[in-house]
Amino acid sequence: MKRDLVRIRLCDKKVVEYNPIMRFLSRRGPSVALVYPAPYSVASQSLGFQLVYALLVSQGIRVERFTSDSCGRSLESGTPLKRFKYVIASLSFELDYAYLAQMLREYGSEGQVVMAGGLAVTANPLPVLDMIDFVILGDAEPTIPKLAEAIHYDCVDCLEEEWLVNEEREGRKAEAELEESPMLAQQFLPISIEPPWGKGFLVEVTRGCPHKCRFCLEGWTSKPFRQRKLDQVKEALDSAGPPFEKIITISLSLSDYKYHKEYLKVLSTHKLQGSIPSIRLEGVDEDLVKAVKRMGQRTLTIAPETTLKEKAEVLGKGFPPEFLKEKLEIIYKYKLKPKMYMMVVPKEKGEMSEREIGNLKEAIKGKVHVSVNPLIPKPWTPLQIAPIPSKDMEKIMIKYKDLGEVDLYPIRWARLQAIIGLSEKPIMRYLDPSLPPEKQMEVLSKVINIKKMENWRPEWEPKWLRYSISNEEEVLRLGRESYEAWRRHFQ
Ligand code: SF4
Repeated sequence: MKRDLVRIRLCDKKVVEYNPIMRFLSRRGPSVALVYPAPYSVASQSLGFQLVYALLVSQGIRVERFTSDSCGRSLESGTPLKRFKYVIASLSFELDYAYLAQMLREYGSEGQVVMAGGLAVTANPLPVLDMIDFVILGDAEPTIPKLAEAIHYDCVDCLEEEWLVNEEREGRKAEAELEESPMLAQQFLPISIEPPWGKGFLVEVTRGCPHKCRFCLEGWTSKPFRQRKLDQVKEALDSAGPPFEKIITISLSLSDYKYHKEYLKVLSTHKLQGSIPSIRLEGVDEDLVKAVKRMGQRTLTIAPETTLKEKAEVLGKGFPPEFLKEKLEIIYKYKLKPKMYMMVVPKEKGEMSEREIGNLKEAIKGKVHVSVNPLIPKPWTPLQIAPIPSKDMEKIMIKYKDLGEVDLYPIRWARLQAIIGLSEKPIMRYLDPSLPPEKQMEVLSKVINIKKMENWRPEWEPKWLRYSISNEEEVLRLGRESYEAWRRHFQ
């Protein structure tokens, strides 16, 4: 392990990093700046960023990484960002666009070829196309090696692939055959600082999700649901050990993984502590909760979103109160603390939230953490036609405080996220992370019609549908069904 310890530099400090990949870095290959527009500790826990890094290195590219806390200089050698002809950025969250815009403005240079991939830009590339030359749609495994080859030939423009798009080039998402793709066995890890979720080794067991919750960007953007072979996963688990201290499972829907019981068994007896993501309520049973307890996790995250039929018809997700109560009882029986995500729908009536909160009080019999979110419409989901979050929703959300340990997703950030995500025009150059969300929205209101976004748009066929990401017919049909349900119950 010692020979894989390196020193990297952030703005204000040096950090010791475990990096078994760096010794394979080409000395002569073309160089690429790989940018994650968030702090280094967060970047280290992004599966996408780790994967693109390893793939580029394996293709003979000299990759140097940049994060929002590296002051425009690479982590590896301190080389300024402006010296790189090729820049590839990872953009999975709309709010990161502002940080990337700032990095490119401050540290970038004319003539650079800037590309970006990630969930948020895959769902809608349009907002970033004023500062980004190409968006890479879909998974890294089928796209990055071809992109690397084009970089070797110094001609990304020559690459005629349908997953490489901009305003002129329509396109289609590329999908990896997960069963055929190797697991990410080598990962870098910060040693002298603590990443937000601990020193974790990332193990991806599934990609995509078989469910169709109508608000879910991840679910719709990363379809189809794909599963790893158990042997492959076990091999990855076998290779995980110090300096990693835990195993972080990556899966949108772990209980749908056909080998999830076996996986949990192996994880619960592994020498490292295990951690699993949010579990669908149907997947919570005694075996699963016991395994979670054994692996050392103290909370279990579930996302029922609602216990009301009216809201469930709009959201395409929700569970009857008795079902939630039964599942919470199992979690409490093994002394785990549930963390629960709930959602508020536009124009939710006071009477409805009172019923919802009443149902929750009835079901909660111990400690709980509740996160309350407004519905945030996202591109390429059926609920892309829903209104952006409003101040009224905040009033409803505050009522949930009655439940005790509750956090509310701030409406102003939810609004900004929705406005950026749903933009049909390039707007990245107007974003500035040093401004509060209200100011950023004020600037954006001069370029895009935010008023239009305040209402349902059932007949709207957004411009991003020209980039084929999911089943368009189904997305539009389910959207209209949601709107009809909303009209019936909420108007
Ligand atoms: S909310 Fe969860 S279960 Fe629903 S589609 Fe998204 S990832 Fe799948």
